[in-house]
Amino acid sequence: MVYDENNIFAKILRKEIPCDKVYEDEFSLFFNDINPQAKIHVLGIPKFPCTTFSNFLKNADNKNIISFFKSVQLVIKDLEIENSGYRLITNSGENGGQEVPHFHIHILAGEKIGSLR
Ligand code: 5GP
Repeated sequence: MVYDENNIFAKILRKEIPCDKVYEDEFSLFFNDINPQAKIHVLGIPKFPCTTFSNFLKNADNKNIISFFKSVQLVIKDLEIENSGYRLITNSGENGGQEVPHFHIHILAGEKIGSLR
């Protein structure tokens, strides 16, 4: 999958489209999902241009990869959902139901998340 510079998250990263920011650092941006599927629904994206989870792990450097996942944990702590629980999801490609082709992690929490099926 070739990276589409005009995908919606690339536009958010370039600040061409606003987002409801939760956390940002050198490598990552976290913001509220526009169509939340739970009381808390945050999306986390690396600033590195990558299409999927696998594409991110293959192409980003280790510093970036470690920083991104540490930021996921930081946001979980900031949202105070570490003890009550949460679900992390990353949809990849066609069969995974990925709509936006920039790798992202969904953080769902704030209530009991239903079963996957
Ligand atoms: P995917 O299906 O690719 O895993 O998830 C894409 C997510 O991005 C969806 O949950 C959708 O609601 C969210 N989304 C799509 N467009 C926008 C947008 O412009 N702003 C925000 N904050 N979220 C968006």
